[in-house]
Amino acid sequence: MARYTGPVCRLCRREGMKLYLKGERCFSDKCAIDRKNYAPGQHGQRRSKQSEYGLQLREKQKVRRVYGVLENQFRTYFKKADRQPGVTGENLLVNLERRLDNIVYRLGFADSRAQARQFVRHNHFTVNGQKANIPSMQLKVGDVIQLKEKSKDSLIIKQIVEGLGQKTPPAWLELDVENLSGKVVALPSREDIDLPIQEHLIVELYSR
Ligand code: SF4
Repeated sequence: MARYTGPVCRLCRREGMKLYLKGERCFSDKCAIDRKNYAPGQHGQRRSKQSEYGLQLREKQKVRRVYGVLENQFRTYFKKADRQPGVTGENLLVNLERRLDNIVYRLGFADSRAQARQFVRHNHFTVNGQKANIPSMQLKVGDVIQLKEKSKDSLIIKQIVEGLGQKTPPAWLELDVENLSGKVVALPSREDIDLPIQEHLIVELYSR
């Protein structure tokens, strides 16, 4: 499955905001946004007025980069959201939130979505007792994620488990620290998704 493999702090600088792609580093003074908050590249410090299209494009790129989704896959998410009843922009964000890698991250089993994606790919979790190594897998209400027994021996997982529970998961997820598992207790609503995004701009972009 394709994914972006270039420098990630550059993505935050391009969007002019913290996208929290690097776990702990994002909260330290090493964060590139805190050190050089201008777009990367030779002309990054030039001031330019953004067109309406530019604003819509940037909003779409932010969401795509936060969830680590490439363009074609993102377009598929949009088409699906558009077919669903309700507000397309909200449907889009909710569908992205329901990805297995995002839920692993939200529960606190990983420091970033990229790390969560790697853990899922490396088979560290089961969903409802079944093998689950597809990061884009959509979870539904009632699904239970469980850290595998043999994964507890991994050094990096041990470190994560020690800090598990320090971060409060969103209300639509339930974390069981003792059993190293999590459950989807409801579908996320827009209020549960703490992204400073104007999703209607993405809808406008794809409606052109
Ligand atoms: Fe973005 Fe985190 Fe890099 Fe800061 S440290 S620029 S928030 S990825």
